[in-house]
Amino acid sequence: MSTSDYDEYGFPLENFTELPVVKPRVRCCSHCRSPNHTRNQCIAYRYSESYDENTSQYREWNYPNPVAARHIRAKKEYNRCHPSITVCNHTTDDLYIYENKWGRLEKRFTIPARTTKTFTKELDEKDKYLSFQYYLIWDDLNPRLTMNDVFRDDVEEFICLEYGGGNYDIDAYGPPDIDSWKKAALKSRYLLEQLVRLGAKNNENYEPILDLVEDIQFPEVSESDKEDAGVPSVFTNYT
Ligand SMILES: [Zn+2]
Repeated sequence: MSTSDYDEYGFPLENFTELPVVKPRVRCCSHCRSPNHTRNQCIAYRYSESYDENTSQYREWNYPNPVAARHIRAKKEYNRCHPSITVCNHTTDDLYIYENKWGRLEKRFTIPARTTKTFTKELDEKDKYLSFQYYLIWDDLNPRLTMNDVFRDDVEEFICLEYGGGNYDIDAYGPPDIDSWKKAALKSRYLLEQLVRLGAKNNENYEPILDLVEDIQFPEVSESDKEDAGVPSVFTNYT
């Protein structure tokens, strides 16, 4: 039939040849409006009938009302199935998230320098007893590496995502650069000691300053720390 066919009143005929659309009627629970069950099967209704209003079951299923309680429970369940990692990378280096797959590290995600990213793992309720292990590493590794190939200082954080385990919120500042501060401090101390040795304290202008240097508390350092800083140590005579 072409679109040019009209009946005697001018209505297009093809409209009347279409099958009428029958909408399936969705039966909702009259208590909590869920389409999945009737009131007779409704857990919320059962708790509302026979339980004290102050019990946790009553509140979980019927507070503030049965429909809102159902949505609150659905949202909680969604959160349990979607644990996330939010990382704020405060450094000028990229940070990488690797997943530990039976001992092998697979790169999953990059957090570029000075950005914040969120990564969500979608879990099924059947994954309840599984956990998924992630490492935040300051190094773009070759594929197929294991944890044995990673330097401890390069690992920012170890993370375990699991059903209902909650979210991680991480501020990443990178590995502390203690070594270079240690070297700079030891070298400075050595140079000040040399000034004293050469008689700088005999000068009335320098003396009060060099007295204050003695008040600086230096932590214990090993002979190899001194060697690294390039100041005299027990190793100096051997080289
Ligand atoms: Zn119901």
